[in-house]
Amino acid sequence: MPIKNDNFSVVLDNNQIAVRNIYAVGRNYPAHAKEMGSAVNNEPIFFQKSLTSLHTDSKIMIPRERNIHHELEVVVLVGTPGEFIDESTAIEHVAGLALGLDLTDRDLQDTLKEQSLPWFLSKSFKGSAVVSEFMMKTDGLCEKEFWLKRNEVIVQRGKMDQMVFPITKLIEYLSARMPLLKGDLIFTGTPQGVGPIEQGDNLELGIAQETLMDIEVA
Ligand code: MG
Repeated sequence: MPIKNDNFSVVLDNNQIAVRNIYAVGRNYPAHAKEMGSAVNNEPIFFQKSLTSLHTDSKIMIPRERNIHHELEVVVLVGTPGEFIDESTAIEHVAGLALGLDLTDRDLQDTLKEQSLPWFLSKSFKGSAVVSEFMMKTDGLCEKEFWLKRNEVIVQRGKMDQMVFPITKLIEYLSARMPLLKGDLIFTGTPQGVGPIEQGDNLELGIAQETLMDIEVA
């Protein structure tokens, strides 16, 4: 089957930015680690999602007969490449912030975890890396509460100051191991309240009073 859309880009300030790599962080909010029955690690846990899992449309098709969970996350867009970036200058490498969903096939993830196998296919499938348009990093996301509504009911909410490892620390840690490129995305972990989504759901992602993305699940 041919691929309909091979333009894997995101929008920042009305400009299209080509995405390169998609990184993600596990257990970065203590209350979420607890709900998953996991301890908070003393170092960040990174994994990757494929470029082809990127999804920016307002309609999403999820895999049928799978237990797909929403994980609401702040997503970082790298603007300035670099490696061995110090935490003190890390913010200079951030072009913008968005909200996203690290969609997860939870049953498959549980099975893979039990077998001590990589999470890859439970985290990386078509449509599984949902991101809104990016805002310039100065737009005040840091101080405000972000949230996810499922069918008009808030199911997740968080603030960036609840992160175990703040964005600057994540950039320092990752860039000491992998050079960061312009267009790399980092999903920074989910607050508590993860749960299933189903066909027919309406999902709304927002900050304070503002809706950033409205999605129909098909
Ligand atoms: Mg996640």
